[in-house]
Amino acid sequence: MHKFEILREKARFFNIELNDLQIGQFKEYFGFLEEFNRHTNLISSSSAETVEIKHFLDSLSMGLASNEMDLNRNLSIIDVGTGGGFPGIPLMIAFPCWRLCAVDSIAKKLEFLRIISDKLGFAERTEIISARAEELGRVPGRREGFDLAVTRAVARINVISEYCLPLVKINGHFAAYKAKTVHDELKEAQKAISDLGGTIVNTYKYTLTGDDDRNLVLIKKTGHTSGKYPRRTGIPAKRPIG
Ligand code: SAM
Repeated sequence: MHKFEILREKARFFNIELNDLQIGQFKEYFGFLEEFNRHTNLISSSSAETVEIKHFLDSLSMGLASNEMDLNRNLSIIDVGTGGGFPGIPLMIAFPCWRLCAVDSIAKKLEFLRIISDKLGFAERTEIISARAEELGRVPGRREGFDLAVTRAVARINVISEYCLPLVKINGHFAAYKAKTVHDELKEAQKAISDLGGTIVNTYKYTLTGDDDRNLVLIKKTGHTSGKYPRRTGIPAKRPIG
């Protein structure tokens, strides 16, 4: 059986120390991901090495933000466009005091999340919602209801800012997992971020295998989001702010 020891070792670079119980949870997550992925497309390659580094470890890069925000407290997080649970499920394993709201517009993928959060023992702290982020950002209680919004591989920063920032509480954060295009994306997203009440705090650079540039963009919610955002479903992607 794959041991996930590289994950344990490299997670330390992200300020995360994984114990045996947590490594066991990652093993169980991997086993079920591999099984489910045979009939429902959640990830393109389900080899243990790929999943360990490209999905599990990458998701844990959120730990880099621990110098800016206290991650070891009860945070309510929302993972927008979670797909197979990235980054939300690895973060729930790493930070057992968090509560997760996992959102995706494709209901089929959410069945996987229901089962895995139950298997991993945090179903009670996990809410799974089939919705478009644009709709959720207008729902009272959801709007400005989360300490942290995370999103990976969903859209460019100007678009995901409109999906995520309306959902974040004042003084909360939005973390966008990005690859190489981050600088161009940030340039074009300046207006969107400030119109939506955000301020860029930091862009953490990291690599997973040595030759792939990755970036975690941390944005703080410093002002309320205007009532005109998010616009109706499909508009943020069709006509990004700015
Ligand atoms: N975050 C996962 C990851 O990193 O592996 C999945 C990435 S997948 C490429 C993008 C996911 O975002 C899809 O599952 C899609 O259904 C979801 N998605 C795209 N736009 C969305 C929206 N406006 N609201 C909710 N989910 C959305």
